Amino acid sequence: MKIPMNDVGAQHAALGAELERAVLEVVRGGHYIMGPQVAELEGALASYLGVKHAIGVSSGTDALLVALMGLGVGPGDQVLTSTYSFFASAGAAARLGATPVLLDIDPDSFNLDPTALEAWLAGNDVSRVKAILPVHLFGQCADMARILELAARYRIPVVEDAAQAIGATCPAGRAGAMGVAGCYSFFPSKNLGGIGDGGLVVTGDDALADRIRRLRVHGAEPKYHHALIGGNFRLDTIQAAALLVKLPHLEAWHRARRERAAVYDEALAGVATTPRCTWGREHHVYNQYVIRVARDRERVRSALAAGGVASAVFYPVPFHLQECFRSLGYSRGDFPQAEAAADTSLALPIYPGMTAEQQAHVISLLRAACG
Ligand SMILES: *Cc1c(COP(=O)(O)O)cnc(C)c1O
Repeated sequence: MKIPMNDVGAQHAALGAELERAVLEVVRGGHYIMGPQVAELEGALASYLGVKHAIGVSSGTDALLVALMGLGVGPGDQVLTSTYSFFASAGAAARLGATPVLLDIDPDSFNLDPTALEAWLAGNDVSRVKAILPVHLFGQCADMARILELAARYRIPVVEDAAQAIGATCPAGRAGAMGVAGCYSFFPSKNLGGIGDGGLVVTGDDALADRIRRLRVHGAEPKYHHALIGGNFRLDTIQAAALLVKLPHLEAWHRARRERAAVYDEALAGVATTPRCTWGREHHVYNQYVIRVARDRERVRSALAAGGVASAVFYPVPFHLQECFRSLGYSRGDFPQAEAAADTSLALPIYPGMTAEQQAHVISLLRAACG
């Protein structure tokens, strides 16, 4: 039995004809750039997410970049974010010439620790901080009530990286819809995945939405007149067409992921440290199911692999230990929770079409390896 980390192929097979028809319609229609499907998807996602403006962009990475550009982040500025995530958050700040200021995570949720954020804000000059960038890692919201309260106290905009958390909620609101701007990814492995790259920025701020829409097309408004320097950050029409087919299924897919997470939670209790749900399972969208293995993680991975089961380490190296950020001056030991997470976390296969038989196989291998 071969079990991948996620099985987009199965999802595509189920939607088969509908997905192919939607793509073929784009091929035949000829509106390859900013075709009508882009605006249609933006409207559908704005209502799904409960936001005023939804702007389709070329990737989740570009969503972060263009949101920070829209806020005017540039050289000499600082962006506060957690050291443990996918590279895009700190990378976007650094690409704009700003300095990513890294903070440790809360070990239970893997998300930005609001206590660390509070301590940094209280102990430093905040005049150059242009954004706080929490990530809702693995499909669960960071502690936004506290982060938003601190952001309001210090008057700093919050940009959410909700790439792994579309549809997730918490008492403070919906992932991506709580800050000044929220960023999503349609990378195929995300809960709402395209058939290539794609992303989205949402905001309730009219002026920011206007700037981001212009930045998406090289800052031009009208065409060939540039008051801003932007880039080509457009969402492809084919991606929009495919995503329109998938969006109506998203809530059912979240439920299917939660059911599988519940099965893992119960079967693995006492075998490994199962993920802690800060806000309750119904708020989590389980883009990843990440356990902690205290000893011999590589041996556990090998045992899974020998049984045909894929696994992954998200993420093996926190930002503060990345070679490209050496000039930031951090060193090992600076963020012990992130370092411990990098050394012990293990992501198991989880996807809506995962069968009970497949999951039982993963569980039995894991029990044997950890038992
Ligand atoms: C996937 C991801 C991104 C980047 O999205 P892309 O569409 O791959 O560019 C950013 N942040 C997080 C947390 C992600 O998981």
